[in-house]
Amino acid sequence: MLVRLTSDWQEVLRRRAAASNPFPPPVRALMGEMAAAGVLMQSNINFAGALILQTHGDGPVKLAVAEVQPDLAFRVTATVIGEVPEGARLEAMLNVHGKGRCAITLDPQDRRPGQQPYQGVVALHGDRREPLQELSEVLEHYMLQSEQLDTRLILAADDNVAAGLLIQRLPVEGAGNLQGTGPRNEDDIGVNEAFNRIAHLAATLTREELLTLDADTILRRLFWEEPLRRFPVQAGDHGPRFVCSCSRERVGSMLIGLGREEVDGIIAEQGRVEIACEFCGLKYHFDPVDVGGLFVPQLNQAPGSSTLN
Ligand SMILES: [Zn+2]
Repeated sequence: MLVRLTSDWQEVLRRRAAASNPFPPPVRALMGEMAAAGVLMQSNINFAGALILQTHGDGPVKLAVAEVQPDLAFRVTATVIGEVPEGARLEAMLNVHGKGRCAITLDPQDRRPGQQPYQGVVALHGDRREPLQELSEVLEHYMLQSEQLDTRLILAADDNVAAGLLIQRLPVEGAGNLQGTGPRNEDDIGVNEAFNRIAHLAATLTREELLTLDADTILRRLFWEEPLRRFPVQAGDHGPRFVCSCSRERVGSMLIGLGREEVDGIIAEQGRVEIACEFCGLKYHFDPVDVGGLFVPQLNQAPGSSTLN
């Protein structure tokens, strides 16, 4: 599977630059790779809910998040708390003290109250505790652990394109896998000759090629000796695109969560509350009247009933 995010990825960066300080280049590259990886993973598992990719750092980057909906709408952001060195890779951004983590969350659309979303977490180091420098290595590790499937992932992003190539060995047989006749541990995986050949070819793809070549050219260059069957491109309304799901209502709920005292404190200090969406930069304003409306006591309301106004 191959993804190329272009105008929608540029839109993410443009909005950020318009709303506040642009992210440092290494962080922009990380966010682009996360967006591309998130789209690939969501397309791959076809999950009926949001796939959320988060890297939690112990260095200058505290958090980076990519969220991809089942219809491939994506959004991405990061929280930077320190100086990001030029050319910084994963370790220097997120894993300075070895505590960086990558979390993959699947949040079902029809989640029942109290039901926890599924979450898998992997460290940002390899089996011999060597720090990993590429997000792709971290995610390959995660997919090997969680799905027990060999995966090769190649990711690259600059300010124009965020792209990724995912090669995954298909399960032996759906039922065979469930019966436990498939590979059982990580050592047994990787013995599949066909997968190894394809994965090896894929690994020769350079970041430059991934960023600059179209899908057909990449496929021809890598797999010209293999029989190819090309699936239709998912683009436009059916493809990955930048959509932010923020709303005034959600920001209001967040303010209610902060508590009246806290919010009144902000009003006293600044006259109003201004919250900018971290994902799209949209600013939401709440004046004292709005805030009063948020904290109207819900009297005479039986549990489970709702008021219309
Ligand atoms: Zn937003």
